[in-house]
Amino acid sequence: MTFSNLAQYFEKLEATSKRLELVDILSQLFRESSAEEIGKICYLIQGRVAPFYEPTELGMAESLVAQAIAKAYDASKDDVIKSYRHLGNMGLAAEKLSKAKRLKTKAVSVTEVFNELLKIAKFVGKGTVEQKVTTLSNILKSIDPISAKHVVNIPLGTLRLGIGDPTVMDALSIAKTGKKDLRPEIEDAYNKTSDLGYVAETFFKHGKNGIKNIKLVVGKPVRPALAERLPNAEEAVKRLGNTFAAEPKFDGFRVAVHKDGNNVKLFSRNLEDTTNAFPDIVEGAKTQIKAKSCILEGEAIAYNPLTEEFLPFQETTKRRRKYNIEEKAKELPLILFAFDVLYLNGKDVTAKPYKERRKLLESIVSADHTVVRIAEERILHTAGEITKFFNEEISEGLEGLMLKKLDAPYKAGGRGFHWIKFKRSQSGELSDTVDVVLLGVYTGRGKRTEFGVGGLLVGVYNEKKDRFETISRVGTGLTDEEFRKVNEISKKLRISHKPARVESKIEPSFWIEPKVVLEIFTDEITKSPIHTAGMNPSADGGVGYALRFPRLVRFREDDKRPEDATTVSEIEKLYKNQYVGKKSSK
Ligand code: AMP
Repeated sequence: MTFSNLAQYFEKLEATSKRLELVDILSQLFRESSAEEIGKICYLIQGRVAPFYEPTELGMAESLVAQAIAKAYDASKDDVIKSYRHLGNMGLAAEKLSKAKRLKTKAVSVTEVFNELLKIAKFVGKGTVEQKVTTLSNILKSIDPISAKHVVNIPLGTLRLGIGDPTVMDALSIAKTGKKDLRPEIEDAYNKTSDLGYVAETFFKHGKNGIKNIKLVVGKPVRPALAERLPNAEEAVKRLGNTFAAEPKFDGFRVAVHKDGNNVKLFSRNLEDTTNAFPDIVEGAKTQIKAKSCILEGEAIAYNPLTEEFLPFQETTKRRRKYNIEEKAKELPLILFAFDVLYLNGKDVTAKPYKERRKLLESIVSADHTVVRIAEERILHTAGEITKFFNEEISEGLEGLMLKKLDAPYKAGGRGFHWIKFKRSQSGELSDTVDVVLLGVYTGRGKRTEFGVGGLLVGVYNEKKDRFETISRVGTGLTDEEFRKVNEISKKLRISHKPARVESKIEPSFWIEPKVVLEIFTDEITKSPIHTAGMNPSADGGVGYALRFPRLVRFREDDKRPEDATTVSEIEKLYKNQYVGKKSSK
């Protein structure tokens, strides 16, 4: 496929935010693509040249991109910047200059442009800046104005086609079979590897069987299994049967360790490569995990080895930083409490039941190591035992319990009653937290004008429709510092129109690109005609869900992607369950 053809598809995608139309256009695009280029196209749609978890960035900000545009079209950098300010987008500036220049372009393929962009990401050492500028300007010289518009937005991260992974997966299935019927198999392979390009290429080369055979790969992050919640211990026993496992719920952050010999990589909950941030865990994994190769998961938490105390989340989170890493590692050592193993010595073990995986985990990590330790596990039978263990853990400063079904496989990317979280705030009443996505801000009044932000508009993820729906305004629970932080985020992610995947009946002062996840404490979930969360205009006269008395607990930007926020179906369940605990405790 020529890049020019791809750019025409980008134009069509940009012009709509209707999911069905997006799926339709994408499936046509995929049908026209070859198996060799489909993976690259999947990355380019997301404005990238590698899967999102790889830290492969083009490393060109506005100034360098403007320089490349100027060089390509014999303009001055000042003119490019002026045009950019006027048009509001660097791509539009490139398109305009390219049109005026009327260069003779040839039919460059998607693969050629992709490979050149990849080169830009890989330049290192002396002369890098010059090489990047020249390479981008050469690409621009060889392509038409519309292609230039889109290419320029790739290094700047401003190619916003508004396409989520579920939309791409539906389109892949439709491109091959005319229906969405293979979406579950595609999703399964994606959950195991987090690499849509790799899954698409395998699918196009080897069909349904090809993707069914996709296994975990050390180095490709696995989409984490997620926990369900229930209102009380009795409900949990009903779900789990009369023998189940219970582990402490550590209030730290999730870490996946990928180990291949002495080569160790770490991934966060939202699948970012965090290897460089935690040298102590990397070292610990090398020496304290007895496996040639493995993928294991655990929760990292700051710990005071002298007093044997777990530190609160606010302390642990100080380790998530980019600078002075070694210094902070000495000051706040982490322990990784391993709670699952997904891959061991060449074999994907996710299909094995929890109790067998736990045995494998016990064979490779021990309870008395200094960095990588196995999480305590107790086999329980009754609601009374849950409450007793729960109270012990709370008094140790932990968050609560994770209850686990003994015969359940590891369900990558899935939520289910295989794991049930039982948190401090959950013993009886709702008073629970939900994870929401920041969608907009209201400018402040009175004292808050100084922060630039007076309130937030937040939403949850509708997984069936692949979009974000509003659920609340939040104005309390934020410290002055947090208001300032929201203002910083808002400056970076502010956009002039409602984002493509957002459904809202209300207008904030500014829309924000849906990227940042916040944890919110709420007293109750209510029905509301204002918010769109779960709203089905034809079924119930257009009533959605809303949060009552929402308060900010913390930012979860390093730890959850927007699609990992609480979903509409979870909100529905929370709504239905919220009084169960109260009734039974009466
Ligand atoms: P939440 O973030 O509240 O949805 O709870 C799920 C998170 O609890 C997981 O993503 C883990 O980071 C964390 N967690 C803490 N302890 C455990 C454990 N023993 N087993 C599984 N997850 C745990």
